[in-house]
Amino acid sequence: MLYFPGPHSYTGEDVLELHGHGGPAVMNLLLKSCLSAGARLAQPGEFTLRAYLNNKIDLVQAESVAAIIEASTHEAARCAVNSLQGHFSARIEALVSLLITLRMLIEATLDFPEDELDNLKTLQIREKLDHIVAQLEQTLAGARQGNLLQEGIRIVLAGAPNVGKSSLLNQLVEEDAAIVTEIPGTTRDTIQRTIILGGMPIHIVDTAGLRETGDIVEQKGIERTLAAIKRANLVLRLLDSSQHQPAAPDPIKQYIPDDKPQITVFNKIDLRNENPKIEEDEHNSSIHLSAKTGAGIELLRQKILHLAGWQFNHAGEGIFMARQRHLEALTLASAHLQNAQEYTENEYQLELIAEELRLAQTALSTITGQFTADDLLGEIFSHFCIGK
Ligand code: GDP
Ligand code: ZN
Repeated sequence: MLYFPGPHSYTGEDVLELHGHGGPAVMNLLLKSCLSAGARLAQPGEFTLRAYLNNKIDLVQAESVAAIIEASTHEAARCAVNSLQGHFSARIEALVSLLITLRMLIEATLDFPEDELDNLKTLQIREKLDHIVAQLEQTLAGARQGNLLQEGIRIVLAGAPNVGKSSLLNQLVEEDAAIVTEIPGTTRDTIQRTIILGGMPIHIVDTAGLRETGDIVEQKGIERTLAAIKRANLVLRLLDSSQHQPAAPDPIKQYIPDDKPQITVFNKIDLRNENPKIEEDEHNSSIHLSAKTGAGIELLRQKILHLAGWQFNHAGEGIFMARQRHLEALTLASAHLQNAQEYTENEYQLELIAEELRLAQTALSTITGQFTADDLLGEIFSHFCIGK
């Protein structure tokens, strides 16, 4: 039995920890005794929620506890620890404090008589604003990278039956994850595998071949393929280069929205004794490779990392565990600051600038949790596992 008197415990409250001998039977007996003595089971994330409510940690730190538990790579875990230690929060707080200083300056100036407004330029409002914008952009870039580390990216392999989608998945995963056969239409369901490239999780979905079909089961598979394409960050459009004429239209292009990031993959170059290569034009990248021999796979891996905008510095500095929620708040704050910049373009519209700065500050404060609605708290903590 371990006793942690508040406020120096995880939650800030008095905490009693009971340790029992291993095995579910004894632990269940212990739990039952506690419950009959008047205790109740904790809600998911309740300990961390209490730590947050008792000001032991802020919201970003609370969320990074969940991120540490979920981390699928060493790098993601390290980033989450960064955030738990308060590095991300410190960045946000520094931005908020710069904003507050600038807002005070502007509010004080609002009451100036007209003729003194000319002196505003000497107050360097625009310079100060630009400085905050630059800091915010840097933080946003770090948060985007952290989000990639945490969530990874989703890649869909799409193409007609038999072009080599399952073989390419196997080649990327380096194990036999999907059945490879010579009968068209074998992969009727979607199969997902996750690989780690440069520390980032890449979720690769192998799909049913796309073609017009009367087969109901295959039709279902195709519907699932289209749904997977919708959710994907990147689509690899596979063609069999031994069958396909370079000038011929790609029969599956119609299934993939034009604005979806995509790479054309000419597979089976071994059948044409071709060397692997990558071709870029304004609208499209294509890679010539062989899923069978592995030639060109490395080009593909590099291209994927490049498209994901992935620049992981292995010290992990300036990269923060970030959830979608954080990215949205940072982006919103950035939009308000850009508005504020526009209001300085011709003459300074001080009231409007002040209002945009206030809105930017509110957006940033939702990240660390100074202004966070209860329903959002419920949403955040419900994703924790029980006992954390
Ligand atoms: P899917 O239907 O698109 O998933 O295609 P599969 O991966 O099942 O491959 C269909 C057939 O093409 C299999 O016999 C594979 O061995 C063969 N294949 C796939 N990729 C290559 C390649 O790069 N070179 C050669 N020679 N055969 C390949
Ligand atoms: Zn397949």
